[in-house]
Amino acid sequence: MEFDLSWLLLGVPIVFALGWLASRLDLRQLRIENRQAPKAYFKGLNYLLNEQQDQAIDAFIEAVQRDPDTTELHFALGNLFRRRGEYERAVRVHEHLLSRADLPVADRERAQHALALDFLKAGLLDRAEEALRKLDGTRYQEQAWLTLLSLYERARDWPQATEVAVKLERMQQGDFTHRLSHYLCEQAATALTKRQDVAQAEQLLQQAIQQAPTAARPRIQLAGTLVGQGDVGGAFERLTELERHAPQALPLVASEMVRIAQQIGQLGRAREVLQRSYTGHPSVDIADALVQADVADGMPLRDAREGYVRHMAVEPSLIAASRWLSQEPFAQDGAHTVVQRSVEEAVRPLARYRCAACGFEAQGYFWQCPGCQAWDSFPPRRIEEL
Ligand SMILES: [Zn+2]
Repeated sequence: MEFDLSWLLLGVPIVFALGWLASRLDLRQLRIENRQAPKAYFKGLNYLLNEQQDQAIDAFIEAVQRDPDTTELHFALGNLFRRRGEYERAVRVHEHLLSRADLPVADRERAQHALALDFLKAGLLDRAEEALRKLDGTRYQEQAWLTLLSLYERARDWPQATEVAVKLERMQQGDFTHRLSHYLCEQAATALTKRQDVAQAEQLLQQAIQQAPTAARPRIQLAGTLVGQGDVGGAFERLTELERHAPQALPLVASEMVRIAQQIGQLGRAREVLQRSYTGHPSVDIADALVQADVADGMPLRDAREGYVRHMAVEPSLIAASRWLSQEPFAQDGAHTVVQRSVEEAVRPLARYRCAACGFEAQGYFWQCPGCQAWDSFPPRRIEEL
């Protein structure tokens, strides 16, 4: 039988053609799938740019389902969830990433950091603390410590805050001297108010002075503690030390200085300190304290108030004007009370203190701003003088 070669000649190309077709189909299928993931991704991005976050999330979820190995999309999705306040979902995304054994170290650290932020935003502070602690030794370490520091400060956990601040200082992340001294002052205040432990409070304040010799607070707080113990002389010495170590803070204690100086017959010394301070940096609080010193010395207020006029000649001041006016006799009967009240009303906002960092205003002076939590952000001068 004759073998028909023409079949072979025809068959071989057909088999090749079929094989080629099959391979093309496979490739096309693969390309479609690969193209769909970026398509969903770009769709998500477009929604995001149009601030349509719900649709963006749907698109990203679709993209993640098509390509579960992609990490960038997981991060994008996690961040989106957190920004929208959907913390549980953000945590799930980041925990899923962390559970992947094939995740490179850099991405693992990034996911751990993102997880800490999720907990922080959700207000789950214990879990945030745990997550932040796990960032030790990673490239997020300094950032994590700074966040831990504000966490401990918010919780008023001063020993833990101290531990972290010391670490940050060692890493040359800034000067934490004054902050560490504030922590000691905070602990001293607690020792005094919660445990009535005067000895410990005084010891902590001495430590605070050593920690930051140019800080005003430890000396002022120690003076207050000593007054409480009846050691007025000791308190006066601590306040006069401010002239050398923290002269800018004298306006804060000028009035108190005169009050306690009077008790121990040291008005002359108080006046010297205050006068020197005033000559260098005129301040309405010091001018006021000098008037009080004159009165304490026996001068009638009507004469002593000339001190306010002298101050106004140096620096115009509505606060000084209001104080001077309170002793001024009026020709018109009954006018004094209403005029005085109006002026005092106008003066009140000027007599406040203001945070230089966030603008928070308060009638009293704060070492840590209640608005932005910054330390030493209130200048020790009234708004009128800023
Ligand atoms: Zn502030």
